[in-house]
Amino acid sequence: VLDADFFRRWMAAAAAAVDREADHLTELDSAIGDADHGSNMQRGFAAVTAVLEKESPQTPGAVLMLAGRQLISTVGGASGPLYGTLLRRTGKALGDAPAVTEEQLAEAFAVGVAAVAQLGGAQPGDKTMLDALLPGAAALGTSPGAARDAADAGAAATVPMQARKGRASYLGERSIGHQDPGATSSALLIAALAGTSG
Ligand code: ADP
Ligand code: MG
Ligand code: MG
Repeated sequence: VLDADFFRRWMAAAAAAVDREADHLTELDSAIGDADHGSNMQRGFAAVTAVLEKESPQTPGAVLMLAGRQLISTVGGASGPLYGTLLRRTGKALGDAPAVTEEQLAEAFAVGVAAVAQLGGAQPGDKTMLDALLPGAAALGTSPGAARDAADAGAAATVPMQARKGRASYLGERSIGHQDPGATSSALLIAALAGTSG
């Protein structure tokens, strides 16, 4: 079973991954956006780490809801409300149980991803974070390792896509040939989950 401490360690692993990959994320965003995705994610997850230490929420749902609220309030870019909604809605779907199963997490994560799709209005193939989140969420029912592989493949598959949502869509056909920054950070978030032991 996965308790609140597991979810705190997932968020810490995500913060570390975002720190490590910040330059790469910003480089990807400089090709088809405004070169701030790495710094947006770093600022957001640093704030998540800080608030989780300060408030020490006691259930999985409370950890993710607090993390999500923090992302929404600290990240100005499009990705803040989207990732904030992902974590907040996943946390809400987990309810107030002191620990959850991997299966419950997979179900809740799918609810969170659906909320991202609803908020952002993107479809699969629009070259957004959803192109990593949707396959990742679907494979999480199998195992966290399968989810990591599916999200990585989903992020890589954004390269030949033309962006239809977000800032990159302003480039039209010139968005083709670059990996989407948000899909790349989504794959990091899921890899961080897969790398966290229960
Ligand atoms: P901004 O574009 O405001 O500078 P970021 O650079 O932090 O914000 O995040 C950009 C990422 O957000 C994109 O790579 C894409 O994956 C994601 N994104 C943008 N708009 C949407 C949307 N409507 N739905 C889903 N994801 C989106
Ligand atoms: Mg940007
Ligand atoms: Mg921006």
